[in-house]
Amino acid sequence: MPETAALRRLVPAGPPNLIGLTREQLEAALLAAGAPERQLRMRAQQLWGWLYQRGVRDFSEMTSLSKEFRRFLSENFRISRPEIVARQLSADGTRKYLLRIEGGHEVETVYIPEEDRGTLCISSQVGCTLTCSFCHTGTQVLVRNLTPAEIVGQILVCRDDLGEWPVAGERPPERRLLSNVVLMGMGEPLYNFEGVRDAMQVAMDGEGLSLSRRRITLSTSGVAPMIGRAGEEIGALLAISLHATTDEVRDKLVPINRKWPIAELLAACRAYPRLSNSERITFEYVMLKDVNDSDADAKRLVKLIAGIPAKINLIPFNPWPGAAFERSSWERIEAFAEIVNRAGYASPVRTPRGQDILAACGQLKSATERGRKSAAQVAAEVAGL
Ligand code: SAH
Ligand code: SF4
Repeated sequence: MPETAALRRLVPAGPPNLIGLTREQLEAALLAAGAPERQLRMRAQQLWGWLYQRGVRDFSEMTSLSKEFRRFLSENFRISRPEIVARQLSADGTRKYLLRIEGGHEVETVYIPEEDRGTLCISSQVGCTLTCSFCHTGTQVLVRNLTPAEIVGQILVCRDDLGEWPVAGERPPERRLLSNVVLMGMGEPLYNFEGVRDAMQVAMDGEGLSLSRRRITLSTSGVAPMIGRAGEEIGALLAISLHATTDEVRDKLVPINRKWPIAELLAACRAYPRLSNSERITFEYVMLKDVNDSDADAKRLVKLIAGIPAKINLIPFNPWPGAAFERSSWERIEAFAEIVNRAGYASPVRTPRGQDILAACGQLKSATERGRKSAAQVAAEVAGL
């Protein structure tokens, strides 16, 4: 029997999970289970508060609700989060969670504390159907979209672990430990559009998790036709994994480029709603030794993005076992950053975080899946691109 089928049988399907439903879906679920129609609004509102402001994990904790209604809820629904299989703490404070989701699949989520913020890097898929040649996740064979419950669940699990749920009667602290979300974990968020959109709607709701639209960044490898819709329907800040300045090189690094080449991708960026100096696009650029890191590349890069309110995030390549690339030297990265900077673009170099626990960009890959493709297979695929 295939491993996944065997694992799926271990996880009971159970009643519907309330986590991850939008308010409308929550009302519809209550109605379908027999809740009186005239109470739907109020009931959904009450539940919303308990689930997302207080983070309760059991209906019995919803003490403002009548015993009878709590029984109705527990008979018809569940509150279920991904299960933490392993939690690793890096020397720099980064926390990496390996989470088990329904079907026995595993995904990784990384919490990165910084001085002025705490960012949760969340996954949108198990694995990724795309095969960017420098990315560890791209070597993972098994792929499925995460449900909104599993996407929102990553935020809830992290807040549980940080102990960041307000206590009744106490004022919440001014500074939030989990203040920002980046969709930069495993998977291509725009290949799971509805799942990501609904989950972000829940995350942004002002009466719940209350994360501002401008504290959420969606990173795409370049699914050009979905970028406009992402702006309209999600409205998060946009990050683009550009990584190269010619189609020839980008075809090799980010193979989706063959479908939507650089010009098409940048046209979609130029049309992104609400683009302004305060809502700039982040272009991510992984620094690969002798591949995309020359002065000529830096100069081409600033020409390509001319006119787009943007910043360039330079990401030193994070190695993983079997990778066919090397990280550019610090002198090279600095020289590249300098050219971009002189052209008027902020060019922060992303400090690799949590490297000791393989939590840095592109290193995510759940343990069960590790080693499915051999280094030789990946090298052959890269060579054949
Ligand atoms: N799939 C989406 C989001 C996840 S990847 C995307 O590709 O945009 C988050 C960022 O890490 C992307 O810019 C990705 O290209 C980059 N990345 C992937 N592998 C990396 C590696 N080994 N070292 C450094 N950055 C990497
Ligand atoms: Fe997928 Fe992003 Fe990795 Fe490319 S870089 S394989 S799109 S996760």
